[in-house]
Amino acid sequence: MFGTIESFCTRFKFNADMKLSCTGCERLLRLLKLREVSYRPSSTMVKPREVRVRFAPSPTGQIHLGGLRTALYNYVFAKSQGGKFLLRIEDTDQSRLVIGALQNIENVLQWAGLTPDEGPSQGGAFGPYIQSERLSIYKEHADYLLKKEAAYHCFCSQQRLNLLRKEAMRKKETPKYDNRCRHLTPQQVQDKLEQGHKFVIRFKLEDSSVTFTDLVYGLLQQQPALVEGDPVIIKADGFPVYHFANVVDDHCMQISHVLRGLEWLTSVGKHIQLYKAFDWTIPQFAHLPLLMNKDGTKLSKRQNDISVDYLQKAGHVPKIILNLITFCGSGFEDNRKIRTLSQMIQEFELDRVSQHSAVLDMDMLNYISQQEIRTKCENPEGMSKLANEVHWLVKDKYPDSVSENPHIVEDHYLQNIIKVRKFHINRLSELVSDSYRYLWVSPNVRLQDLQSFSQHPEKVLDFLYQKLQGIDDDCWNEDQLKTELKSLKKLKNDDFPPFPQIMKIMRLSLTGLKEGPAIVEILEMLMKSEVLKRIEKMLDTSISR
Ligand code: GLU
Repeated sequence: MFGTIESFCTRFKFNADMKLSCTGCERLLRLLKLREVSYRPSSTMVKPREVRVRFAPSPTGQIHLGGLRTALYNYVFAKSQGGKFLLRIEDTDQSRLVIGALQNIENVLQWAGLTPDEGPSQGGAFGPYIQSERLSIYKEHADYLLKKEAAYHCFCSQQRLNLLRKEAMRKKETPKYDNRCRHLTPQQVQDKLEQGHKFVIRFKLEDSSVTFTDLVYGLLQQQPALVEGDPVIIKADGFPVYHFANVVDDHCMQISHVLRGLEWLTSVGKHIQLYKAFDWTIPQFAHLPLLMNKDGTKLSKRQNDISVDYLQKAGHVPKIILNLITFCGSGFEDNRKIRTLSQMIQEFELDRVSQHSAVLDMDMLNYISQQEIRTKCENPEGMSKLANEVHWLVKDKYPDSVSENPHIVEDHYLQNIIKVRKFHINRLSELVSDSYRYLWVSPNVRLQDLQSFSQHPEKVLDFLYQKLQGIDDDCWNEDQLKTELKSLKKLKNDDFPPFPQIMKIMRLSLTGLKEGPAIVEILEMLMKSEVLKRIEKMLDTSISR
């Protein structure tokens, strides 16, 4: 193995922020585990303190499935404990802000049903919930640490810091600040401040190691001073760094449990030293395992197909997305069960969150959606929910057609379509896509368009009209329609083309398409009155010519 944490960090380019690449994270964990005691805390040991958790995203882009997973697990954990779920926006790195990202975060949470109890829009007793609106709070706390001599002003130039870094690289050592300004006298500091020198505020890291218990990864030990110099807590622009604002806010907002991605596990030692410097209660930590793509790469904000916005626009409903997350993750006795959000709350167990990376299998999306549709079709209540969803999709996509033909959004019409197509669709939104447009909008086909199939299409249509009209409403079902169509194979009439051509005439007249579902299914879905109406309309085009 790598021997010490220090040599590990040099080898895996552990940056001064202690934020690791994902492979780095996993390797560091293995290293830390050398010191792990074989003990895993049970959630029954959670202190009897009101459970308050937070989802603390940085508004640096569209929220993706990784972010949604953190939000979901925080939410279900809070609700399973009768606690509160907060949204806090961590926007202290102003250079990475993306316009609209905050709105996107709030919209996604709302859409997914993970509405915060406290947050920028909800308000709450511990606001503001946007870090850039809390600068005076961080300043106050930094001043406290300065006064206590647990923090100090650092005037080192960027140039000097770059030199230190280069020198460390040359010596193959971990680049870290050498804490030079720790040793400035109060007078020297005063003089520099008076002369208007630019400064940052750094926190004095203790040399000792920190032992803590992560509710997922067990007992761990870290010695932050081995891997970094005294960290900056307030930057030259007056903004706090993530680590400082995060600790101050978690304390001020009375956060009891910190549930977040594994990439932050290596920062806990530093955070704990900050809590200790303030003499604050330390929250419980639970780091969620890495979420990986199927090919083993880390999820990235640039991967559009995993942005919640993209999946939303592709027609996936919240339940499917939330289940995709739990299917690929852990935290439940059975990770392959489709649940509602309230079932997730009832069945979630922090103890069951595993330490292994979770593989995000996007192929599961179709599987979960199909299962969901099929299961709902099995009972009247589920069926009516599906019909209701399609109702809104149709109204949204084809409003004019709904005003002209209100029957297309009636329950029996919609339920019938869902019943016929349930084995062919992955999600309900497919039913309003262009290939199913004919279900909602009567096609514009003229008799002359049928002439390539028959010289007398009107005679064929007229015959079909009579035949279909003769079927009783009650017998308008798959079996009966199949029998009727089969009988056309035996038809002997010189004016009529062969059977396959008759089918093509029927398909084009009813759907305006040359390909699509079987004719029987089309007849079943459109139902008798609409089928006859469309044939009549076709025949009318010959009269108007
Ligand atoms: N702002 C951090 C992020 O977006 C949150 C880390 C935390 O939850 O402490 O990853």
